[in-house]
This record gives sequence, structure tokens and C-alpha cells, in this order.
Amino acid sequence: MTSEWGVYVHIPFCQARCTYCDFNTVTGMTVDDHRRYTAALLKEWDREVAPDGALVSIYFGGGTPSLLDPILIGRVIQRVLARVSCDAAEITVETNPATVTEQRLAALRKSGVNRLSIGAQALQNHHLSALNRTHDVDAINKTVEMARWAGFDNISLDAIYGLPGQTMAEWQATIEGLLALDPEHLSLYSLIVEEGTPLKRAVERGLARLPEPDRVADMADWAEERLTRAELFPYEISNYARPGRESRHNRLYWQMEPYLALGAGAHAYRPGRRWWNVRGVRRYMETVEGGRDPMDSEEFLTKEEEMREFLWLGFRQRIGVDVGRFQQRFSLDPRQAFHSTLGDLHIKGLMIASADHLVLTRRGRDMANVVARALVDADVDVSIHSPRAAADGASF
Ligand code: SF4
Repeated sequence: MTSEWGVYVHIPFCQARCTYCDFNTVTGMTVDDHRRYTAALLKEWDREVAPDGALVSIYFGGGTPSLLDPILIGRVIQRVLARVSCDAAEITVETNPATVTEQRLAALRKSGVNRLSIGAQALQNHHLSALNRTHDVDAINKTVEMARWAGFDNISLDAIYGLPGQTMAEWQATIEGLLALDPEHLSLYSLIVEEGTPLKRAVERGLARLPEPDRVADMADWAEERLTRAELFPYEISNYARPGRESRHNRLYWQMEPYLALGAGAHAYRPGRRWWNVRGVRRYMETVEGGRDPMDSEEFLTKEEEMREFLWLGFRQRIGVDVGRFQQRFSLDPRQAFHSTLGDLHIKGLMIASADHLVLTRRGRDMANVVARALVDADVDVSIHSPRAAADGASF
């Protein structure tokens, strides 16, 4: 199997801070800062050693990558593609509807970007305003229309459920409105109230009231049923796609394939090792400009840790854990190595096993925290290497 890998490019600039956001972002930077930061990205890329295999994805995430001049985005793409093997990579730019025009979208498309991930978040202006989003509902609709005009045939839309004061009817209207835009992909996130955010303070002071957890679960259920009927199929806990339009970039993460990362605070992974850059934007630029490695820290993962993570990330996907890929990677059968834990999940009705996949049941997905805990606590048997022995022990 040819290995695949990707590049994540972090663009930390935003127009304003959304109330729920704890990402590594900065506001108030100038166009000169953008140019300087891009030059640092190119310099960092020149230090990188590309993994073996084919590059399948370049992902510009943020922050708000669509704030960057498309010429600068194009420069990064060209520099990356200049020295790697790549037939047809998915090249995604996260896009805020407040930052685009027809010309900018056409220029992005021309620079090689072939997928947009548009942050819609909600289709009610009062929710967008409460979240401190810098766009309204009209801008979302216009962005999709302009993106189609510019030639984008692969569009993902993000939305959040469980917002303060959000009713089921509003969530249903959001889903219907997004469906009317005919996206190839949807990412639906349950709101997480992160420490240190304005939203957290508002919740603590009683200024923002979150919906009850049962109601939030009902929103997720309703969306899944509606989107499946519309042939946008769930393929991961938060993600839906038309067949063949699943995100290749996300799949790299979930299948534990290597990805390099450029930019302030960006995280990279190769089998057995994870590392990340310094978080501050100015510090990142100064470090790279000074010819130094911007890596802040790294961690090494044992085989056992990687196996647990592989199982967990596999369970997040609807298709489940690919037993063959697990065996290929670790020279062990997961049904043997985790026999007791997986057997227990099976007996409790949280997981089922087919010949080649281990899949969470609906109950298992609802109790994902129990499954995660079980994997963390699992006893791992790394002594069985015989394919015969693995096959004999394949059932629970
Ligand atoms: S636009 Fe995105 S990255 Fe920027 S503050 Fe809002 S949620 Fe965070």
C-alpha cells in the first residue's frame, strides 16, 4: 500500500475573535505582516524533509486563511508542489464569508485551491452576532454562490449546534438552509465551551444559557437523519459527505498517516512522533527568519500508545477500525492484542466485528466516552504475531 501524507499550513490571522474560539489566532495584523509570515512559511517548508509516498492534501487552516491575499496562498502551494510527488492533491482553504469577493475566490481557484471549507456556523443573524462572527446569513449564501461561479465544485460548510438559546426549530432551519446550498460536505460541531473564552465567562455569569444535553443530542440525531435522507452520509462523528467527497485531509488524521505542519503553533505527526511549533506569531517569524527550527516541543509515542490511538480514531469513523491496516502497521491483530477490552465492548453491545472492520454500534457512539476510557485502561497483549493465531481468535 502506497503511503499518503499531507501538509497543514496554519494562518493565524482573524478579523475579530469569536466568543467560543480558543484557537491560536491574532487580530489586527497588517498586510505587511501577512507577507512576512508567508515568507517564513516558505522558509520553514525549505527545511522540511518530505515523507515517502504521495502528497494527497494541503490544508490551510486557521485563523482565517481567506484573509490572506490569494497570491500568497498560491506561493505556498507552488513551493510545496515544487519538490514532492503529487498527482492531484486536495487543496483546502478555510474561508470566512466576511473576507471574500468574486475576484478573490477566482484567484484562489486559479492558484490551485480546489476545496473550500466555509465557516457558516448558524443561519440566524442573532446567533452569528452573539458569537461575534463578522458576517451575516446573506454573506454565507453569497459566498457559496460566488464560489460556484469561481469554479469550486467541492465545498464544505461548518455549523455549530448547542448554541446558547438555540431552539430545535432554529437548528432545523440551519440544516435546511445549508442543504439548499447543495454542499458536497458538512461538518457539524457540538458547541464546546472552552476555558478562557468570552463564552465561558458569559455562561458562568448566567448571561448565556446552554440548551440541555438531551436537547443537544436530539439536534445531532435530527441532523443525521435529515442529512442521510439528503444523501450526505455521516462518515465520522462530526462529518457528512456526498459519496467520494469525504475530506482527504481529515482522513490522514484519522488513519494516522503522516502530516507536516507549517506556521505558528502548527502540529505535525509521523509514526511514533508528534511535534509542534512555537505558538506566538512574532516569535515564529523571528525564529524562522533567524534560520532556526521553530519547533517548540515534541513527544514520542510507544507502539502501544499508537495502537490505542489507531483504534480510537478508527472508532470515530463510521467504517470503523480497518483490521488489515492495523495488522499491516503493527504486525498484530487488534482482536488479539485488545482481546479482553474489545470482547467486553462487544458483550455490552457497544461494538460489532465484521471480517475486516471493528465498528461502534449506535449505543457505542452514544457512549463514546466509555469506549475511550476502556481503550485507555486496556491491557494490551503484544505477544501474538502469528496470522493463524490471530484468525483463530477473530471472534468475540
Ligand atoms: S474566525 Fe475562526 S479562528 Fe478566527 S476567531 Fe473565529 S472561530 Fe476562531
